[in-house]
Amino acid sequence: MVDRKSFLTMMATLPFGAAAAQLKALQTMTDSLSPSERMPVLFLGHGSPMNAIEDNVFTKGFREIAKTLPMPQAILCISAHWETKGTWVTAMNQPRTIHDFGGFPKELFEVQYPAPGSPLLANETKAIIQSTTVGLDAQWGLDHGSWSVIKHLYPKADVPIVQMSIDYTQPTSYHYALAKELLPLRRKGVLIIGSGNSVHNLRMVAWDQLQSIGYGYDWAKTANDKIKQWIADRNHKALTQFEKQGQEMKLAIPTPEHYLPMLYALALQEKDEQTTLYNDILLAGSLNMLSIKIDKAS
Ligand code: ZN
Repeated sequence: MVDRKSFLTMMATLPFGAAAAQLKALQTMTDSLSPSERMPVLFLGHGSPMNAIEDNVFTKGFREIAKTLPMPQAILCISAHWETKGTWVTAMNQPRTIHDFGGFPKELFEVQYPAPGSPLLANETKAIIQSTTVGLDAQWGLDHGSWSVIKHLYPKADVPIVQMSIDYTQPTSYHYALAKELLPLRRKGVLIIGSGNSVHNLRMVAWDQLQSIGYGYDWAKTANDKIKQWIADRNHKALTQFEKQGQEMKLAIPTPEHYLPMLYALALQEKDEQTTLYNDILLAGSLNMLSIKIDKAS
């Protein structure tokens, strides 16, 4: 790292444009996120990408919860829809809106969510995580796991967003421990959001019941009840060992990527904090929109 004095000397020898760029780099080196009150943590059940453009009971739930949040300096979102080898964070200034789905109306593909990125938060996240080397990504952007729901929280797209990927090569215990390392960010104005679905079995979706809000198979109801009980009991051990919890849980979580973002959120719950559940609605048989806010018990 260049120290400040030699940096300034070096700058003096550069043409003006280059000097301005170097000055910006110096600011990046010295800036950091400001300390804040402990920010809440969210898990958002995102469901269908159509929620991005619909006005329904779920989007109403997101808007209502947003009213209860302090304004964040930045958002760190762990989305079910970014699975990678290794853990990565988006580090570009202006992440693109990724339409990572097919078969939906043109109107949905036209949605742009131009929230800025935050190379500062990306670097800070990389710096605080000790258990692995976090990669800085310049290719990804915002997938629908983040923008389709965050746009209801912050319609003006005025909060910078960094996404963090899910390393598909790692066991659940890795993700739970990694999430705990993010804790200091909560006191730097960062709203950490996990975006997925607690019950998510697309193979078993009752396609003829897509509009049936509240319709869930018996196994989905049982799995949802178990998950809620463990959340209430703070039994994170049972939640992280979901594969061992019977057939209903196996059906609810056939693959872990939509479930893990919920564990990222819950791992950040501190002793004096409560969980508030909302959008607890089964639909299409095999999906649940359950969403969670974690904050200080009042
Ligand atoms: Zn999804």
